[in-house]
Amino acid sequence: MTDPAAPIFERARALVDDYTLGAVKAWKAAHPGALAVGHMPVYTPRPLIEATGSLPVAVFGGGDSLDIIRGDSYFQSYICHIPRSTVELGLGGHLDALDGMVFPSICDVIRNLGGMWKMLFPQKYVAYLDLPQNFDKDVGGRFYTSELRRIARELAGRGARTLDADALLGAIARENERRVTLEQLDAVRRAEPWRLRATEAYVAVRAGSVMPAEEHTRLLREILAAVKLRTARPVDNVRVVLVGSFCEQPPFELIRALEKAGCDIVEDDFQLGMRMIDGPIEPCAGEDPVEALSRAFLERGRASASRYIDRNEKGADLVARVHACAADGVIFAAASFCDPALLDQPMLEAALERAGIPHTSFKFAENTGQFQVIREQAGAFSDAVKLWGPAGAPVAAQEASV
Ligand code: SF4
Repeated sequence: MTDPAAPIFERARALVDDYTLGAVKAWKAAHPGALAVGHMPVYTPRPLIEATGSLPVAVFGGGDSLDIIRGDSYFQSYICHIPRSTVELGLGGHLDALDGMVFPSICDVIRNLGGMWKMLFPQKYVAYLDLPQNFDKDVGGRFYTSELRRIARELAGRGARTLDADALLGAIARENERRVTLEQLDAVRRAEPWRLRATEAYVAVRAGSVMPAEEHTRLLREILAAVKLRTARPVDNVRVVLVGSFCEQPPFELIRALEKAGCDIVEDDFQLGMRMIDGPIEPCAGEDPVEALSRAFLERGRASASRYIDRNEKGADLVARVHACAADGVIFAAASFCDPALLDQPMLEAALERAGIPHTSFKFAENTGQFQVIREQAGAFSDAVKLWGPAGAPVAAQEASV
């Protein structure tokens, strides 16, 4: 029987692979005068950009399909890969469809990249978005709402629509719909990972990087309907949570290699920005929607390496997620030289060890071409968990770096 979902995933994959942003060019042709605004991972509040009549476009670098020539000359060798490929994309004219870029405050690399972008593309809009690390609404909240208003104001200065409350409420409602549909997709993947593979969920989510929330929701619903029609048989894999890939993304084939090694990735932090807020953004009666957007981030922003946690225990969120999705173990998959991910990892590992949850780790670059070592390591991990069970499985000590 032919797979009813296959043509939809092919469409989504084509969007993911197209680093020349064909979909963004088509959107701009259909919306004359409107802006397309790129943003780097991890989190940029897309509803704010949509409310100004602009298209938010998540930029995830060049992946493994772009030769880096000029990009390398802008950065020292001991930093991650995504800024190099992003510069390469920019200098190669592949991001010309973008009228501006937002650089959220994730790490020094992104901060420096934002500064470089300003010098390299002086005619484009460039914003550095300082995300709050204080979660008191009268301190961090006040600061963050002023940041959000500043960006909306600056976009209006570049020709976007002036932000108004109704437009933002509409954009928040559309984002909430997307979020609900993403949760439904996640639920299928957790309950029947053989029905919706991690590689498929990956392209389903990432395809939304280049489209408005409403269109992405339609695509996700199409996928949901199609995968439910599949005839799929359960597979005896181990269930894993994958963490550390919230910014630079691993090559698609690496995710496939993990699946082939016997791992069902039932939860991950790929494209974390799409899921940064736990649950819907709910403006209270009479509340300014900019404040609602800010409050959602303060109160329900997901734990990640780019977010300060105050009184909570580091790793507690990861342990809770492992239990919530009945995972057998955790794979740490961080980009080489990713300071936020790699500095967090020992604390997360300690929390997993206290909870008796097996884990293993490796590093990658977005253009990694060899997966054999990682596949063998993931296969050994999966076998160990199957043989000895989650609580008794020895932690795979070996770490691969490719
Ligand atoms: S991969 Fe890590 S270090 Fe590199 S830009 Fe992203 S968050 Fe920063």
